[in-house]
Amino acid sequence: ATMPPLLSAIANAGRHGVLVKSAVVMERIGQTDAVALDKTGTLTEGSPRVTDVRPLAESGLDADGLLRLAAAAERPSEHPLARAVVDAARERGPVLPDAQDFTSAPGVGVTAVVTGRTVQVGAPSRLLDGPHRAVADLAGDLEESGRTAVLVVVDGAPAGLLGIADRLRPDAAATVTALATLTGAAPVLLTGDNPRAAAHLAAEAGIDDVRAGLLPQDKLAAVQEMASAGRKVLVVGDGVNDAPALAAAHTGVAMGRAGSDLALETADAVIVRDELAAVPTTVALSRRARRLVV
Ligand code: ADP
Ligand code: MG
Repeated sequence: ATMPPLLSAIANAGRHGVLVKSAVVMERIGQTDAVALDKTGTLTEGSPRVTDVRPLAESGLDADGLLRLAAAAERPSEHPLARAVVDAARERGPVLPDAQDFTSAPGVGVTAVVTGRTVQVGAPSRLLDGPHRAVADLAGDLEESGRTAVLVVVDGAPAGLLGIADRLRPDAAATVTALATLTGAAPVLLTGDNPRAAAHLAAEAGIDDVRAGLLPQDKLAAVQEMASAGRKVLVVGDGVNDAPALAAAHTGVAMGRAGSDLALETADAVIVRDELAAVPTTVALSRRARRLVV
């Protein structure tokens, strides 16, 4: 027997490294007329590296001490930034202190108790409860050069910043162009990162419409707003913070290699072989199959 077109398309998408979860999804993805992309781990490689370690004088910590506390708190997290912090600390000394009472807030950061001290690591704007001159200056410097500034707070007081740099995926710009051509709409960037780092990266990827500083529910709201304007929104993301937006999307696609379990479960399709360019390929395969079905 010859395979029905949608099943052939699923097999074909699989050959391009995309796991499409059902025939219904295979059919829907071709209807996409708007695209929202996440930044960290989606447009970027998701293997960021710590480039700067800047303790504040009043913390009494040196660079190694700051990094080790942050890494101990980040160890249970599956966020790409957390892995960068842990890797950097392990390069300087393989054994990290234990952490207790770990919690994470998607789009914000993590908290844990390390050697009796409460350590928070995350977005400066979310962890500070008021203006802080030294933190703002240091974060501004780092973000100006496209880095993500991560604040470390120890027992309620800012202790220092980490600068983290991630690279654009090699196929990001080509994917943005291909999706714009296929869907007739320029993709938008939805990110929890700061506006400066986001603008820097968006420019490299060829994206004009950037919405930064978003919490998971803000990403969801952005997708719902596009949907209520009648758009069939394709969302691509990797994080726990992307899960609500992936669930609300007309089609949700998760980055598989480094994606969080929640994103993989929530998405309608998973990019297994880390190539972003497989997204427009799958849209095109769906269109072809639909022509055969009708
Ligand atoms: P994106 O939307 O670009 O994937 P996220 O929403 O995952 O980014 O994260 C947004 C911001 O929240 C990060 O830029 C960082 O400042 C902070 N953040 C979230 N999780 C962590 C973490 N585990 N460690 C440090 N910072 C974090
Ligand atoms: Mg992400």
